[in-house]
Amino acid sequence: MNELRLVVVGASGRMGRMLTQIIPDTLGVRLTAALEQPDSPTLGVDSGFGHGTTPNGVPITSDVAAALADADAIVDFSSPVASVEMAKAAARAKIAHVIGTTGLSQADLDAIAEAARETVVVRSGNMSLGVNLLAVLVERAARALGPAWDAEIVEMHHRLKVDAPSGTALLLGEAAAHGRGVALAENSARGRAGLTGPRRLGEIGFASLRGGTVIGDHTVVFAGAGERIELSHRAEDRGVFARGALAAALWTRGKAPGLYSMADVLGLSG
Ligand code: NAP
Repeated sequence: MNELRLVVVGASGRMGRMLTQIIPDTLGVRLTAALEQPDSPTLGVDSGFGHGTTPNGVPITSDVAAALADADAIVDFSSPVASVEMAKAAARAKIAHVIGTTGLSQADLDAIAEAARETVVVRSGNMSLGVNLLAVLVERAARALGPAWDAEIVEMHHRLKVDAPSGTALLLGEAAAHGRGVALAENSARGRAGLTGPRRLGEIGFASLRGGTVIGDHTVVFAGAGERIELSHRAEDRGVFARGALAAALWTRGKAPGLYSMADVLGLSG
């Protein structure tokens, strides 16, 4: 089978650099374009620059049309605005779109769902196998324990992260809500301060810590009367997300248009 021709969006970012580093060592994929914003100071620079290795011959560009003309799939860790624009372009070009960007609004998610009517889209707030397995365990635990066990989700990330709670915390919150058969939007408490009153029964709480260079720590606490369960995941390296995203890109081959999750890619759904 031919190699999957890949476009990386946000190529100069932390995740973009990780992707361009591991693509040459990943069987079945080839980098054909590395996209950045039109005003990026890295335009024209070899996209292999971020890791001090030999040039990869793919200069960073902002020419989306040219990038998509020679591609099978897009791997996108950028910004909500960029990912929505890219979803529309991917739908027009019928190219698979793997979206790792977090901090998406409901309007952004709706636009991505619309694009997924035309092409294959895999979107996940966390592309790692470990976190997606954790989500399955959280859903099971929430179903077994019920709302009498208070669910709290604690996350910590590096000081440069711009959105909170993290996409992963929300993914875990969705898993807990799904396990209980309720909607997260109506049952979540995001950050508490001041005279909050007692905890509401069935609330799923979120707390976000920021600092240093932490790649991503998540703990889901189920607190019952006199006992507590804590389910945790710690990402030690951005490579776990990049490898998951490349697995997702390879998985899109031959799939029908639609919106898929990493649980689908990893065979953990259903
Ligand atoms: P980052 O270092 O800020 O990288 C984002 C890159 O995207 C930047 O280089 C940015 O350029 C670029 N960009 C912005 N708009 C663009 C556009 N229109 N076209 C092309 N490139 C554009 O951030 P990061 O740490 O790599 O994370 C990126 C996103 O992925 C965040 O939402 C993060 O939360 C998420 N993430 C998800 C996972 C997961 O597993 N799902 C894992 C890690 C991170 P400028 O700097 O010039 O704006």
